[in-house]
Parts: sequence; C-alpha cells; structure tokens
Amino acid sequence: MLKFTLRDYDAIRRHGEETYPHECCGILLGRFEDDGTRVVTSTARCGNTRTDSAHNRYNIDPRELVRIQREGRERGEDIVGFYHSHPDHPALWSETDFAEAHWIGCSYVITSVEKGKAAITNSFELAGMDEGDKKFCDEPVKME
Ligand SMILES: [Zn+2]
Repeated sequence: MLKFTLRDYDAIRRHGEETYPHECCGILLGRFEDDGTRVVTSTARCGNTRTDSAHNRYNIDPRELVRIQREGRERGEDIVGFYHSHPDHPALWSETDFAEAHWIGCSYVITSVEKGKAAITNSFELAGMDEGDKKFCDEPVKME
C-alpha cells in the first residue's frame, strides 16, 4: 500500500497537467513501515531528459536522482517510489516502464492526463527478489 497526504497527491497530479502534452516525472520520498506500506512525505519534480519523445517516454537524470536522494536523507526521508504521467493514455504501466523500473520494493505511480486534466492515478509495487524476478503488482493508494 502507498499512503499520500492530499497535498503530495495533488502535487504529482498537477505536475502532469503542467507538462501536458509531455510526460512529467518525479520522485516520491518518505518512509517504509514495518508492514511494507510506503508513506510519502514529500515529492520532488524531475526534468524529463528524454527530449526525443517526451510524450511517451520518461527518464530521470542519474545526477538529479543522486542529489534528490541525498537531500532526502538529510531530512530523514528515503526514496519510496517514482511517478510519471501518461498524456492521453491509460494509467497502466507499459513494457518500457517495466524495463526501466529497477527499484524493487518501491512504488511506481502513473497518472493519466486526459486533454490536460489529471484523471486516474494508479500505483504499482515493483515486487520480486531481483531484476530477473521482478514484477509489477497493483497496490492500493490511500490518502490521509
Ligand atoms: Zn509510462
């Protein structure tokens, strides 16, 4: 399960509306609870480095990722997930999303943005033991 405050949930959906018709992407920071629940306590926007086809691909600059991870740790936050938008496409993961997902135990959140308005937001946990065994599992999103 992934828990959000309404503020953070709104922030990632708004980000998708702002970058429409291009994809947005960013990082979810927070904590892992003992029962496996991930709790988001802040979000960080990332620039989309895929300029060739930013409408259907996304990528986070590794240097940006390292900086956000370091700044999070200074506040006592871990990376608990990633988010991106699907402009005029369903909020379901693609083969590319799966191939590019490497953080096992983290959440991958996708928001569909239809004609510029954020529609459905879904989250998928990247489960498994390692890269060869990984799989996306639907997970509930809870607001608190
Ligand atoms: Zn995607």
